[in-house]
Amino acid sequence: MELTELNEHFSRVLAALKEDHAASTIDLWFKDSFVADFDGRTVTVALENDFKKNIVTNRYRDLLRQKLCEELKGDFNVTLITKDDVEAEESSIFVSAPQPYVAKQEEPEPDENDAVVGSGYTFENFVVGSSNKVAHSACIAVAERPAGTINPLFLYGPSGLGKTHLLFAIVNSLRKRRPRTKVRYVTGEQFTNELIDAITKKNTALFRSRYRNLDMLLIDDIQFIAGKMVIQEEFFHTFDTLYKLQKQIVLTSDKTPKEIEHLEERLRTRFEMGLIADIQPPEPELRTAIFKQKTQSLGLDLPNDVLAFLADNIRSNVRQIEGAVKKLWAQSFITSEEITLDMAKSVLSDYFSKERSKITPDLILEMLSKRYGMPTDEIKGNRRTANTVYVRHMAIYLIREYTDLSLNNVGKIFNRDHSTIISAYKGVEARIKNDSDFNKDLHEIKAELDEK
Ligand code: ADP
Ligand code: MG
Repeated sequence: MELTELNEHFSRVLAALKEDHAASTIDLWFKDSFVADFDGRTVTVALENDFKKNIVTNRYRDLLRQKLCEELKGDFNVTLITKDDVEAEESSIFVSAPQPYVAKQEEPEPDENDAVVGSGYTFENFVVGSSNKVAHSACIAVAERPAGTINPLFLYGPSGLGKTHLLFAIVNSLRKRRPRTKVRYVTGEQFTNELIDAITKKNTALFRSRYRNLDMLLIDDIQFIAGKMVIQEEFFHTFDTLYKLQKQIVLTSDKTPKEIEHLEERLRTRFEMGLIADIQPPEPELRTAIFKQKTQSLGLDLPNDVLAFLADNIRSNVRQIEGAVKKLWAQSFITSEEITLDMAKSVLSDYFSKERSKITPDLILEMLSKRYGMPTDEIKGNRRTANTVYVRHMAIYLIREYTDLSLNNVGKIFNRDHSTIISAYKGVEARIKNDSDFNKDLHEIKAELDEK
């Protein structure tokens, strides 16, 4: 049976599901779904994304199968996949087949290790703010003009802030605009495993040709190869070959090249030859914008107080933001309740219990006092030397960020009125945008607070 014909049956099946369930929920979960494959026994249905696939698997799979069997008048299995799986399958691998320079009969093996790049990660759905805009524009530049001026591009920052998203966006943009570009995306771990595999099977020549004939190589989490001598050695030559051929290299890591321990010196200097761009935890406006985007993409419309509450409480990491949105969505779906502030508070309590409960103004003041060797009284007092003001503003900013205190109550701690607190806070925000040393300092402090 042709797929088109099957899909006509499939739309009747969806209509039949709506006899038992609210049409709007079926539309929601099955939006853009279709039959992707049929081998005579199993009908493969593609859903829009992973989340929907899980919901459909848990709730509708048996019913779907039953209705499909009725519709197709036979006994069939149903397999659920996502649209991304289909696309990944179709373009199989976005890397063009490597040209082995070994003997001809040695066909290249299928690239099983190749990472699949989710097509849902694009520049368009990456929300930009001051903490990620340099990284974002650098990636766009690289996608538009590979090996133009930025080579290598080195992105670093803590986990969950969009590094992988940006690499995927480069790949997706190239696939669309320059499909013939030979691109390969792998993680540092995959690179390592492939090389070990090649060494074991004695076909490192194939491995080399696979990597050295590329137009662009993107390696995610390159820190993984640090401390591994053989891998670093091989990567050094890969890097050098590509670089000399003026091919684009993009790397990500959780740290700057300098901070990666046990990284070979010659690699470090090469990583530093191009542009090093950092991604920092999102500032409040960006958090709100990301919350908006993530909820809207799920068809959720959150009241402003809920949005503000979320942006205020879930702060360190975009992955957490996504998790929180999905949890809210699922909860509202299960109970068919509208999402209110109270509901958000109770559903998400575990997300921010850590950030909220233990961190008090005193704890922040003590931490800063220790860090800068400055008595807490001085931080809170009236001295106006540059150092004191720096630490005082840092304290005000952190107390605003980490506690629930109102401006007036923060003011009381410092014996100042709320307008002074606002201008201190704004001063810090401006500094975050312009002063990388300050940012680094702040980041270290936040990391320490997040460990509490
Ligand atoms: P990293 O590789 O830095 O650990 P990821 O790229 O895996 O982080 O990002 C984690 C999740 O957060 C992904 O689902 C990604 O799409 C999302 N994300 C991160 N930053 C943004 C952003 N600025 N806009 C939209 N989504 C984002
Ligand atoms: Mg990543």
